[in-house]
Amino acid sequence: MVDLKGQYKKIEKEINDSISNVIENTTFINGPSVSNFKENLKEYLGVKHVITCANGTDALQICLMSLDLKPGDEVITTDFTFASTVEVIMLLGLTPVLVDVDPVNFNIDMQKIRKSITKKTKVIIPVHLFGQSVDMDELLSISQEFGLKIIEDNAQAMGASYIFKNGEQKKTGTIGDISATSFFPSKNLGGYGDGGAIFTNDDELAAKISGISNHGMYKRYHHDIVGVNSRLDSIQAAILDVKLKLLDDYNNSRKKFAKMYTDLLSNNSKIIVPKFPENHLSHVFHQYTLKITNKKRDPLVNYLSENGIPCGIYYPIPLHSQKAYSSTRNNDKNFKVTNDLCKEVISLPMHTELDEDQIKYISNKVLEFIN
Ligand SMILES: *Cc1c(COP(=O)(O)O)cnc(C)c1O
Repeated sequence: MVDLKGQYKKIEKEINDSISNVIENTTFINGPSVSNFKENLKEYLGVKHVITCANGTDALQICLMSLDLKPGDEVITTDFTFASTVEVIMLLGLTPVLVDVDPVNFNIDMQKIRKSITKKTKVIIPVHLFGQSVDMDELLSISQEFGLKIIEDNAQAMGASYIFKNGEQKKTGTIGDISATSFFPSKNLGGYGDGGAIFTNDDELAAKISGISNHGMYKRYHHDIVGVNSRLDSIQAAILDVKLKLLDDYNNSRKKFAKMYTDLLSNNSKIIVPKFPENHLSHVFHQYTLKITNKKRDPLVNYLSENGIPCGIYYPIPLHSQKAYSSTRNNDKNFKVTNDLCKEVISLPMHTELDEDQIKYISNKVLEFIN
């Protein structure tokens, strides 16, 4: 699914030097590699504050901890994503309200968000799923109308942009009140281990978040609130700083490969290819995900694996059906789209080191089986 070794080989010297540098300086915790990476990331995103942390799940948790929520407050999020989002909502004693998704772009359904809002709703967590930006014009108008905070989950969309209806353009992860991201190795900007970060343009929230991620300390050994210990490792920061310079190139490769797949696969009525955005900005193809509509998805997975082609099912089970997150509010009949997607989606290999021959081979095997 990914070729991290091929990618590493092309930047081997720079990466190794950056790691050696941290070791030579023995700045294992924080230090210049972390502060340089934060500065460079701020500039890349065009955001006021970057607070790094240990992983994307911590980033989401710390974002929620900064908003002074009370047990029972409701947080709206999508039914079709990785479990982190709903997991941290529940860990903090908040109530997740899951919402079905749009069948075309797989992102949270704006109309259904409106119907899920109650007096207890405080926050919406949209996920820019598979690298595709959610409709931020509409989401901001909902949040303003109902006075809700937005935490963007940008883990799959590093480097994507959103173009507003008025033509203004911003990077995803810099539009809501706060944003969380992950540097898990297979993400578009991935380290060689765990890592995460939080972005915000709000000075007060940024100060609060820095303290929360550092044991609730705002002054050394003065613990004002209950926080956590969540740091980006200095070696990871050094690696990420090298890779940040390549992020746009990496995302352009992903888009080019996505377009090749789409050109090859879009003429079969049983295969629905992802919509390729006209402006080429709002989708960075963390995943290239097809819908197989003739109930042959599972046998296709087997066929591809027999032919040496890895593929992924993101995600096989809707969050509302997970044992850990079941609740009376999550009536199965409200999740028709997610229920269908879990049976239809298949993600093909998508990474920076693909080539045209591989994409042709993979696409031919898909067509061979589905025809
Ligand atoms: C990867 C991911 C996370 C979690 O990131 P970790 O660094 O593994 O904790 C959260 N949300 C989404 C959408 C993700 O893809």
